[in-house]
Amino acid sequence: MTRGTVEAGIVYLVGAGPGAADLLTLRAARLLGEADIVFHDALVPKAILACATKAKLVAVGKRSGRLSTAQTFINKQLLDAAKRHRIVIRLKGGDPMLFGRAHEEIAFLRRCRIRVEVVPGITAALAAAAELQVSLTRRGAARSVTFVTPRVGDGEAPSSWLEAVLAADTAAIYMGASDGARIADALIAAGKPPSTPVVVVQSASLPEATQLAGTLGSLSSLLPAGRDGPTIILLGEAYRELAVAVVRKATHAA
Ligand code: SAH
Repeated sequence: MTRGTVEAGIVYLVGAGPGAADLLTLRAARLLGEADIVFHDALVPKAILACATKAKLVAVGKRSGRLSTAQTFINKQLLDAAKRHRIVIRLKGGDPMLFGRAHEEIAFLRRCRIRVEVVPGITAALAAAAELQVSLTRRGAARSVTFVTPRVGDGEAPSSWLEAVLAADTAAIYMGASDGARIADALIAAGKPPSTPVVVVQSASLPEATQLAGTLGSLSSLLPAGRDGPTIILLGEAYRELAVAVVRKATHAA
């Protein structure tokens, strides 16, 4: 595979984890310290970027609904950087291999005969489960977990997220915060009971983290507009007690 490789640097696709700097892997932290240049997502917090002590930092922010750098341009930037630098990092929120468009970057760089390595990170669903202290595979309630996003990019095939959620005991729904009503309507229309427990976790692992529990039928009210920060929706019977706790609190307050 290395035959014909031009004299160039390595591009590391590094998982930055959910936000807390001390949830970086040791490998990620070491590579950030060695990197010459770091291309990072908009969501990566400053405390993590601070690990890249000698690198040039380039934001290539991809954030739903906001200005984003086209993927082909990011690919080109990575290639140009690998020709000029020894250690190039593409730093992505969570884990690079989940909803991170890692495949496009890996395929492009390999076509260009640039060496690529991937460093895993803690994905949002796992950070959210830690925040809630409820297992995604809570015994007796869940034996399967699905990672889905209802978001479909331009020109992509329709998503099978709905079928995946119906088939799994627990679902972690990424990039769904701005689409709560549509997600709930689609799931209920497909037969998921409106009473299915739902938890919305925002900014998991960060000091400003919030969690709101309810049911599928009330999902849109758990996702108030204007709240900032990355938000994941967890759904399934594993969260039944959390949903009940919030309903009780609401009853007390009334
Ligand atoms: N590769 C990332 C996911 C990128 S898609 C990962 O493995 O986590 C971006 C989505 O991830 C956001 O819209 C949100 O749904 C979720 N997300 C990322 N960080 C999060 C956090 N700290 N708390 C809650 N959700 C988060």
